[in-house]
Amino acid sequence: MSEDDARRRDAADPGHRELFHVPPADGGRYAEVAYFAGNSLGLQPCATVPDLLDDLGDWARLGVEGHLEAGRPWLPYHEFLTGTAARLVGALPSEAVVMNSLTVNLHLLMVSFYRPSGTRTRIVIEDTAFPSDSYAVRSQAAFHGLDPDETVVRLRPRPGEENLRTEDVLAYLRDEGDRVALVLLGGVNYLTGELMDIETITAAGRAAGAVVGWDLAHAAGNVPLKLHDWDVDFAAWCSYKYLNSGPGALAGAFVHERHHGVDLPRFEGWWSTEPATRFEMTPVSRPPATVDAWQISNPPIYAMGPVRTSLEIFDRVGMATLRERSLRLTGYLEELLDEVTANRPLTVITPRDPARRGCQLSVRIGDGSASDLTRRLRHEHGVIADAREPDVVRFAPVPLYSTYHDCWRAAQALAATVKEWGRD
Ligand SMILES: *Cc1c(COP(=O)(O)O)cnc(C)c1O
Repeated sequence: MSEDDARRRDAADPGHRELFHVPPADGGRYAEVAYFAGNSLGLQPCATVPDLLDDLGDWARLGVEGHLEAGRPWLPYHEFLTGTAARLVGALPSEAVVMNSLTVNLHLLMVSFYRPSGTRTRIVIEDTAFPSDSYAVRSQAAFHGLDPDETVVRLRPRPGEENLRTEDVLAYLRDEGDRVALVLLGGVNYLTGELMDIETITAAGRAAGAVVGWDLAHAAGNVPLKLHDWDVDFAAWCSYKYLNSGPGALAGAFVHERHHGVDLPRFEGWWSTEPATRFEMTPVSRPPATVDAWQISNPPIYAMGPVRTSLEIFDRVGMATLRERSLRLTGYLEELLDEVTANRPLTVITPRDPARRGCQLSVRIGDGSASDLTRRLRHEHGVIADAREPDVVRFAPVPLYSTYHDCWRAAQALAATVKEWGRD
């Protein structure tokens, strides 16, 4: 497939690259990088800085009065993100909130939703869970006086396979479900790019009497989600990957409405109470019957601003439209990688079925180190991919701003960098 062909595809199926700052390349023939690391840190929208300067200007102009009089008043600021965040993940407005960071949200949600009792104590995760999630669930088990090694169950793919089969998750829940207190899996696996069957696993976990939560770090802004309809108990996601809100950006949280207004253990602060009661200075809170009850502190406005700006882009373009372009773009990259990997020590480990993945394709390299490879891709070709040591390189063509030409460049660069078998 030729460069001209990639250019023609871009003309016929453009994304929204013009809305983003694309960094300059520090190697190769092109001015801009071919950016495939949006699954790690998304690019900066052009609107982020002007929007942030507006909000900062209100502080300079108004001081404390900005709480009520700013263009976007700070007191209800988080509510400006409610609708867009909820639509992004298929939640009711009462079910989604932007607050804290991802692992912090997982902990706060586990305070309510991990309640081991009797022999029902286990937490089910995937063996390739992101380390933060592993540490979080182990520390929750220990917090309840349980042995993390016995309490945390790590589900593995079958020998010789890369991805976890839904049927194997279901089989575990069928056989051992009465010992499971919490199922907490990644919606899209950070390493392999596998998209789990969230609806089916949620139904099975709940039928087994467990609570089912999802870490959507690699799913939010990548694949369409229907958390409310799928009956998910709770979920959390970060905003710096596909959601383009900047390093360490504020995260999202979802709590299904059936848990609202219910007497659950929850850690509280003054943002947990009804807004109307916030300044009554009473000793006892009156939490709203919404996910807002899980908030604790008044939010950092200048961290929330970039999330607001970015969520509005997703809301304008729409996840359904993005998913369609994503399927075409990732399918194209897959075709190109098939040609490159055919005669080289490289294997795509992401599921081949487009329904079982988002936009990321992960490549296992048979020899050499993943970070050596990504260093060469960057400095010799201006292609930014990311390495997961020892041997996985991840490419995420992001439907908002990646191009077919980027994909073509990545395949060319990989072919030039990794020697063909039998040729030295
Ligand atoms: C990126 C990522 C995290 C990061 O956690 P933070 O609390 O945002 O630092 C956690 N879990 C998963 C699955 C991730 O992909």
